[in-house]
Amino acid sequence: MKKPIILAVLGVLVAAYFAFDLGQYLTLEGIKAVAEDLRAFQQDNALLVIAGFFLAYVVVTAASFPGAAVMTLAAGALFGVVLGTVIVSFASTIGATLAFLSSRYVLRDSIEARFGERLKAINAGLERDGAFYLFSLRMIPVFPFFMVNLVMGLTRIRTLTYALVSQIGMLLGTIVYVNAGTQLAQIDSLAGIASPGVLGSFVLLGIVPWIAKGIIGLIKRRRVYAGFTRPKRFDRNLVVIGAGSAGLVSAYIAAQVKAKVTLVEAHEMGGDCLNTGCVPSKALIKSAKVAATIRHADRYGLTANEPQVPFRAVIARVLETIKTIEPHDSVERYTGLGVDVVKGYARIIDPWTVEIALNGGGTQRLTTRSIIIASGAQPVVPPIPGIETSGYLTSETMWQAFAAMDEAPARVVVLGGGPIGCELSQALARLGSQVTQVEMADAVLGREDADVSALAREVLEADGVRVLTGHTAVRIEGRTLIAEHAGEEVAIPYDTLIVAIGRKARLTGFGLEAIGVDTDRTVTTDEFLATKFPNIFAAGDVAGPYQFTHTASHQAWYASVNALFGQFRKFKADYRVIPAVTFLDPEVARVGINEREAAEQGIAVEVTRYELDDLDRAIAESETRGFVKVLTAPGKDKVLGATIVGAHAGELLAEYVLAIKHGIGLNKILGTIHSYPTMAEANKFAAGNWKRANKPEGLLRWVERYHAWRRG
Ligand SMILES: Cc1cc2nc3c(=O)[nH]c(=O)nc-3n(C[C@H](O)[C@H](O)[C@H](O)COP(=O)(O)OP(=O)(O)OC[C@H]3O[C@@H](n4cnc5c(N)ncnc54)[C@H](O)[C@@H]3O)c2cc1C
Repeated sequence: MKKPIILAVLGVLVAAYFAFDLGQYLTLEGIKAVAEDLRAFQQDNALLVIAGFFLAYVVVTAASFPGAAVMTLAAGALFGVVLGTVIVSFASTIGATLAFLSSRYVLRDSIEARFGERLKAINAGLERDGAFYLFSLRMIPVFPFFMVNLVMGLTRIRTLTYALVSQIGMLLGTIVYVNAGTQLAQIDSLAGIASPGVLGSFVLLGIVPWIAKGIIGLIKRRRVYAGFTRPKRFDRNLVVIGAGSAGLVSAYIAAQVKAKVTLVEAHEMGGDCLNTGCVPSKALIKSAKVAATIRHADRYGLTANEPQVPFRAVIARVLETIKTIEPHDSVERYTGLGVDVVKGYARIIDPWTVEIALNGGGTQRLTTRSIIIASGAQPVVPPIPGIETSGYLTSETMWQAFAAMDEAPARVVVLGGGPIGCELSQALARLGSQVTQVEMADAVLGREDADVSALAREVLEADGVRVLTGHTAVRIEGRTLIAEHAGEEVAIPYDTLIVAIGRKARLTGFGLEAIGVDTDRTVTTDEFLATKFPNIFAAGDVAGPYQFTHTASHQAWYASVNALFGQFRKFKADYRVIPAVTFLDPEVARVGINEREAAEQGIAVEVTRYELDDLDRAIAESETRGFVKVLTAPGKDKVLGATIVGAHAGELLAEYVLAIKHGIGLNKILGTIHSYPTMAEANKFAAGNWKRANKPEGLLRWVERYHAWRRG
């Protein structure tokens, strides 16, 4: 059939549905009234009624009209359990398949536009579990019946597979509904509702999704664990692999709730954040800020000086900072908290066994109920010619290299314009290096709004960084990076090359591949952070999608609680409010959506700005660069996102993080006393700007008249 004909048929059906108000028959009352009439007619015309009912059922499901559930009850009332089930089972399968086909061949664009987001989830599920995923969707109504038909049409599943799996998957629910229908038919007074048969059917209706969920869970578990032998008893409740932010918090929580937990770390306790990431970078940034303050001391009425930078001493302070914080994450502290800390390299042997190659020699094998993978991420190094002999550094290696330098490296190339690249470029430039920052995209901090990226570039350049955007690194010759820009090659000589183009999850070499834990760019987990093995979880950079210390520890709570108590209740990781700060000077801090994301996602927003050059404290501090930008739902004070650029923006952001998390609107922020003179007042003034733009003009006109009247 041609597309226009199918569309016309569907159009006629929809028009008829509304014109004749057919929906009234698809309610419980409506169907009961019709059932009464039909029963009389059925005596002499049984086949006709069956055929008519069958056809009507096919039309309702094929056209995705609401009412299939009510019709299933009616089938029970009219035909009894056995015949009713047979009729509904075939009619619903045919109807569902027609809806599926019309979605696949006729309505593709509109279905995609309407249910695109769900399509992603269903496609991911199909890829993971194949037709079994459809089977579970049919048994457990996570999505409405009609939506499954329509969205499945857009996937690559074969029509015959779809029809067969649907029929089998819907059978249990069909029987329960038809059975409930046979009981409903016997209700002729209110008292009838309380009959054990009717109540029993309702109970069955209520519990069937749970039973189905249980059955599916059981089948899934049997499938993933097939081929492995589960130990009779376990040495541990939990083994955590990796003692970075995610692993430490996971182990801490487990010990607090009295579980027997082992935390395995191959290298330094504290992971990347303490040893090579957040802590050293922020310590370096502070020294660089002081150097910049000396250089621009005239801004404060003092004599500006070119700062002396004994680089060795600067890095010694950075390392000292790590040493000072180290005890927070130490073996001693965690042992004292009740965690069994093992220094060694862990490998997963089977879903319940971890083998540790001990740093001191020898191995230790532990059986465990659950495992949390918290192995973190490592720098991405681009596979460009010459990279291996380029002497490149990454965040993992640069601190040691810096520690051996008396002076800041003279010519530095920083490859990458993301947060880490920007932070390092500015810090090294301020400490005396000649820095060239090379970024492939058109802007640095490309995930931020254009005005934020532009300001970031401006401040980097003000500190002497040569920012080359739209430059793609193509090869390295000796100590010269060759980048391509607008079809031309640009040669950038360096003494030190720092690669900061991103970080990739550590996924290989410790058993994930061997036992078949699914991975993509990160370990694949469900919303409870479980891998396909329900007792193996992942948290932190290795689980993604965020790469922050605060998201790692946030996920750790979910992973450990779900690992230890998931059999009672599981918690979905909540990613609704994730703050992110880039520690440039001025800082760039964001929570919720920005203008770019709002435009990409088609979300209507009202944007309110407050410029820091208006703020008394910022003026007193000569820290007037930056702004507060708040995104709200149009006409409402509900905060959807905030971006703050400015001194201490990371601290200022906390108020908006709280506001979004707990639904505190701009009116409440405006009504809250903020100390004078503080940078935090900027948040209140932004709320004030919003209020001015949203004042009730009509009401104010009346108030003006009232005042005029009062004056006489
Ligand atoms: C330069 C830089 C600056 C950063 N600045 C910030 C910032 O300001 N704010 C912020 O929030 N985030 C920042 N980050 C990111 C932050 O460091 C990470 O998000 C965080 O460390 C992730 O913690 P994690 O526990 O997932 O992994 P990690 O900290 O990487 O810990 C994983 C640990 O697992 C161990 N391990 C791996 N495999 C095994 C195995 N098989 N057996 C035993 N041990 C194993 C590793 O040795 C490692 O110690 C920065 C990162 C970098 C590189």
